[in-house]
Amino acid sequence: MTFSELGWWQPFDLLDYFRAEFPESWIPARVSFSSHEEFQLLSPSGSHQGVLSGRIRFEAEEGGAWPVVGDWAAVLPNGNGPWVIQLVLPRSSTLYRGLAERGEPDQIMAANVDVALILSALDNELNTRRLERYLYLVGASRIRPIIVLNKADLHSDLEQVQEVVRKVCAGADVHVISAQTGAGVDELSAAIQPAQTAVLLGSSGVGKSTLLNRLIGAEQQRTSPVRESDSKGRHTTTHRQLIPMPLGWVMIDMPGIREVGLPGGEESRMESAFPEIEAWSAECRFPDCSHVGEPGCRVLEAIEMGELQGDRLASYQKFLREIAFQHRRGNKQAELQEKARWKTIHKEQRKIYKKGKHL
Ligand code: GDP
Ligand code: ZN
Repeated sequence: MTFSELGWWQPFDLLDYFRAEFPESWIPARVSFSSHEEFQLLSPSGSHQGVLSGRIRFEAEEGGAWPVVGDWAAVLPNGNGPWVIQLVLPRSSTLYRGLAERGEPDQIMAANVDVALILSALDNELNTRRLERYLYLVGASRIRPIIVLNKADLHSDLEQVQEVVRKVCAGADVHVISAQTGAGVDELSAAIQPAQTAVLLGSSGVGKSTLLNRLIGAEQQRTSPVRESDSKGRHTTTHRQLIPMPLGWVMIDMPGIREVGLPGGEESRMESAFPEIEAWSAECRFPDCSHVGEPGCRVLEAIEMGELQGDRLASYQKFLREIAFQHRRGNKQAELQEKARWKTIHKEQRKIYKKGKHL
């Protein structure tokens, strides 16, 4: 069976566009792994090592894009040798995380993601504050969140725990599964459409490998971890690779994230993590109400009425402070870089087209 029969190739409905815009020797491929100078590419002919063209490297220095896992790229194939990545195609979505606690700018975790599986385990008390952070990350990138509660076999009151989860993630789908017994896994897999791209998020130990192995099937195990140096030069074990699934969608496997830093963004994106607070805010007497004691504050009223938990509002206000802090650090930089990059790409495309360089 080829990859294209599995359906993961389908999202590339830009194939006609691709043929019209680029030299004939270029083909589309998907970045399945990216780390420093190491790249893997997936195409219908299989997996290939990738290297960057001089131009991408040059442009990256000028603020252009570095290919990340999930990117669609235009590449020059080269038999069994490394394929040359010529440029990165426009991203339908970009998943960022903030690294302010390390004093670093926002980091792009993955590109062209449709669905995020946010995995928690029921053998420990559920960390709802952490869920809020994941929801913000995902919502800020306009990706559909699915909350996955794993290790259901270890929990006795599944109704109660789902209720707790629904309070912090109104609107998001919630799946209760056991990666170990397989309960609920087929339903979860069916919630993702063929040709879609899902990303697997969650702390280490929640069962990401176990789930992945179950989804892939017994005949193919999770590939061995890749050793990568972190910013302090320590070796950490990380996966972060794109794997086609038997049902025709693809999974981007992420290493367990220790700190879920909020990327800088617009406050309006708070909607994704705190929809009910945003809804009540709209009914406060003052449009700029900060919900700390103003008269006619609908949010504080909701807390008094027992419709909203106080710690949820505390969390909301902490998010606002954190995001504002990110803004002040000039963390819009990533967005500006993205804009500058597309300007370059479109310019390049026009150049190629004008010169008739469709060789
Ligand atoms: P990862 O770090 O997120 O990749 O987590 P792993 O997949 O390595 O799982 C961590 C531990 O939890 C392992 O010992 C698994 O066997 C166990 N585990 C994973 N899923 C389940 C489950 O559904 N039920 C139970 N009881 N244990 C599980
Ligand atoms: Zn208010």
